[in-house]
Amino acid sequence: MEKTAINSKAAGRRNEKVVLSLLAGHGPLSQSQICQMTHLGSSTVSTIVSRLREKEWIHETPLPSGKRGAKPVLIRINPQGGHLIAAEINPHTIRLGLFDFHCQLTEQIAIALGTDHSVENVLRLLEINIRGLVSKAGIRPDRILGVAVTLSGSITPAGVVELSSPLGWKTVPLRRLLQNRFDWPVEIYSTKVRLLAEIRLQPSLQSKNIIYFNIADGVGSTLLIDGKLVYGATRRSGEIGHITVMPDGPLCGCGHKGCLEALVSGPAVLRKMRQELTRECSSLLQQRLPALRSPEQAVEELAWAADQQDPYALSVRDFIADYLCYAAAAAVNLFDPDVLILAGYVSQPFLPYFTKRLQDYFVEHVYDFASRTIEIIPARAGKEALIQGAAAALFQNALSPV
Ligand SMILES: [Zn+2]
Repeated sequence: MEKTAINSKAAGRRNEKVVLSLLAGHGPLSQSQICQMTHLGSSTVSTIVSRLREKEWIHETPLPSGKRGAKPVLIRINPQGGHLIAAEINPHTIRLGLFDFHCQLTEQIAIALGTDHSVENVLRLLEINIRGLVSKAGIRPDRILGVAVTLSGSITPAGVVELSSPLGWKTVPLRRLLQNRFDWPVEIYSTKVRLLAEIRLQPSLQSKNIIYFNIADGVGSTLLIDGKLVYGATRRSGEIGHITVMPDGPLCGCGHKGCLEALVSGPAVLRKMRQELTRECSSLLQQRLPALRSPEQAVEELAWAADQQDPYALSVRDFIADYLCYAAAAAVNLFDPDVLILAGYVSQPFLPYFTKRLQDYFVEHVYDFASRTIEIIPARAGKEALIQGAAAALFQNALSPV
């Protein structure tokens, strides 16, 4: 008897998620539409709708009807019914976002991390600021559906950070440590989730095969194939920044030589400029070199000088484009995408030029390119991409019936 009761409770929860997921994907629906689309009986749907109403997870709006009897009702998700928290941890900042039940960002804050990257300091800052964010927004703690944390590194499905070189963390059971501080479910995600942020902004991408190519402080890629993010056997797929493109080239942070990341990441571009500009007396950039404070600023200056047709700046831009083309063509040959998304502060100022260079290079170097159509588009999610993506992953998780 007990087993039957448990099974029936589990089936009820699963059906609630089926209905919520349907409403999240399709928008408002009537009860009869829900029956048709889920193949659930009308009494089952009635029970689910009444439970969702009690939890205040849905709104119901009567529709005008000339007929006698019960008026049809349109059911929609109540955006205030539940909330998610997403956090991005990077070496400079902790970015926190509060999301409503439509997975829309409603509040965000950024906290400077300083030089103390210790796990204890990060946990302390996360706890204080997450509780502060929820309290300031006036949200009842029981309305929080979970906390999603994302950071660069390899993360196990159990939420253990095996290695995060930017933070200097090794084997940190982050999910368990955070779970000790919060009653809400906690999930830890790698930065692959940022592709989910792009899909939320452009839902048509969900049905595409995508390579998301990020060139920023690091260089990496994320794959979406047949509608699913690809993780690989050890969850390290997409490490395109660590393919060797220049044997005996500069040393990479991973310990190998000549990786793509060691040549075209933001820090690599700044290093190259610092080394070469001492000799390039004629470049507009030479005067600006002492004031360059960050790789991002160096790339902005490079783009400015390239716009002025500065020969040295144009040569650095071409150097980045050359290596981007080698790596992207290899990835296209391997994964056969129909969309290539270019992301990261190194690629953004040069998008039209890089797009043209990639298209030309693919014609010459991608197998049977004439039979393929590859759209090259910029990333749109901006600075909130990671918290948006983490929230989307948690939202999918929360509504997944399995
Ligand atoms: Zn490397």
